[in-house]
Amino acid sequence: MSQSTDHFDVIVLGAGVVGITAAYWNLRNGKSVCVVDRQPAAGLETSFANGGQVSVSHAEPWANPSAPFKVLKWLLRGDAPLLFRPRLDPHQWLWIAKFLVDCLPRRAGRHTAEIVKLATESRGLIQKIRADEAFHYDERSKGILHFYRNKHEFEAAIPVAELMRKYGCDRTVIDTDKVVEIEPALAEKRAEIVGATYTAGDESGDALKFTQALAQVCEKLGGVFLYSHQATALGADKAAGEVRSVEVCGPNGYRTLRARDVVVSLGCWSAPFLRPYGVRLSIYPAKGYSVTIPTDGSNVAPVTSLTDDEYKLVYSNLGGRLRVAGTAELSGYTRELNETRCQAILRNVKNLFPRAGNFERTTFWTGLRPTTPSNIPYVGRTRYRNLWLDTGHGTLGWTLGAGSGFRLANMIGAGEGPLVA
Ligand SMILES: Cc1cc2nc3c(=O)[nH]c(=O)nc-3n(C[C@H](O)[C@H](O)[C@H](O)COP(=O)(O)OP(=O)(O)OC[C@H]3O[C@@H](n4cnc5c(N)ncnc54)[C@H](O)[C@@H]3O)c2cc1C
Repeated sequence: MSQSTDHFDVIVLGAGVVGITAAYWNLRNGKSVCVVDRQPAAGLETSFANGGQVSVSHAEPWANPSAPFKVLKWLLRGDAPLLFRPRLDPHQWLWIAKFLVDCLPRRAGRHTAEIVKLATESRGLIQKIRADEAFHYDERSKGILHFYRNKHEFEAAIPVAELMRKYGCDRTVIDTDKVVEIEPALAEKRAEIVGATYTAGDESGDALKFTQALAQVCEKLGGVFLYSHQATALGADKAAGEVRSVEVCGPNGYRTLRARDVVVSLGCWSAPFLRPYGVRLSIYPAKGYSVTIPTDGSNVAPVTSLTDDEYKLVYSNLGGRLRVAGTAELSGYTRELNETRCQAILRNVKNLFPRAGNFERTTFWTGLRPTTPSNIPYVGRTRYRNLWLDTGHGTLGWTLGAGSGFRLANMIGAGEGPLVA
């Protein structure tokens, strides 16, 4: 293990849920670790206010055979769950071309299987971290209920659930009696619901609280955190195929860090950060929204984590707060809040659960999902032997991060892993 403060076994770039879990597993493997983030604390960007679901049951990627038709249908609607705003950006067009290829049935099936496997491992590791490190993050282990108001969509979900069961995800098809038994808050809407699936093993919780609590554990394990530091460059030696240093810039100016291994977990910014070094990643931001409503003691707010298929919204009760998240906007790197989309989400919540909480005190948020066309993250080595990737977790970073970080830490420990970019 290295001793000098500027020389580490592993530098992790990015302190979102993905970077922090990668740092944790490397520390647990006995490495000295330094984490760099431009924000003043962990989890302040895309991991800040997400939907809260730890959902193996959401393993089916957006790129699936029904996606092109749905996207065309939504193209001109300002409040559509998925919105594409064309830009003069070749990266956006290339990403969309790859997305369309990944919609082919065989590819989508293979990706679903891969995501189920990683998500199941990851969910188990989140539970292990919770037990080993004894912290809480408004977690709930009441499963995820995915309900449908459209018969056609429900029927299409049945074979997907079957495929997931084949790969080990306990997503079962249930009737409306069972829906109301699992989530009494849906009783008033019972007549609208045509069917549902339920995954008892899935969970929910506040990803920000988890990330920040785990960052504290990492500090106790000896991890060094350079917050408010921007990673500006890599000292990359193309000929030797290795990264010799990382340049960072903080309140006291520039600093050069050295490490045996470097992990990139910069979310959406991984792709532009690595482009100058010839590492090309198909990661494009998919902007999503969340609203958080204080339940203020309401006893009719849902307590089970829910997915409303029609509006592509997820609901998680985070102890005193109802978090509702969804929508995807391919519009570049802007996090601007679009009022129409905020109000569309709020309208849906009020319609479904009119007495769920104090709507006057709703807070709105947007975040940029670091999305790959297949929704499979990059976990492995680059053309530089000591430059590793744990990034591109898209819609499922909270679900998949613990598992991908665990896999990556073991690759770093073994000194070998698959070449992924
Ligand atoms: C609306 C919405 C709902 C979601 N719901 C769910 C859900 O229910 N379940 C689920 O599993 N996932 C969900 N997700 C996805 C999940 O939130 C993301 O996949 C996850 O947060 C990505 O984590 P990350 O660590 O890769 O990225 P981030 O959290 O964005 O972390 C990247 C970090 O890198 C830092 N950084 C970037 N560039 C630099 C630089 N040059 N120098 C220094 N630091 C830098 C940033 O400050 C940031 O802290 C949702 C996402 C959204 C937007």
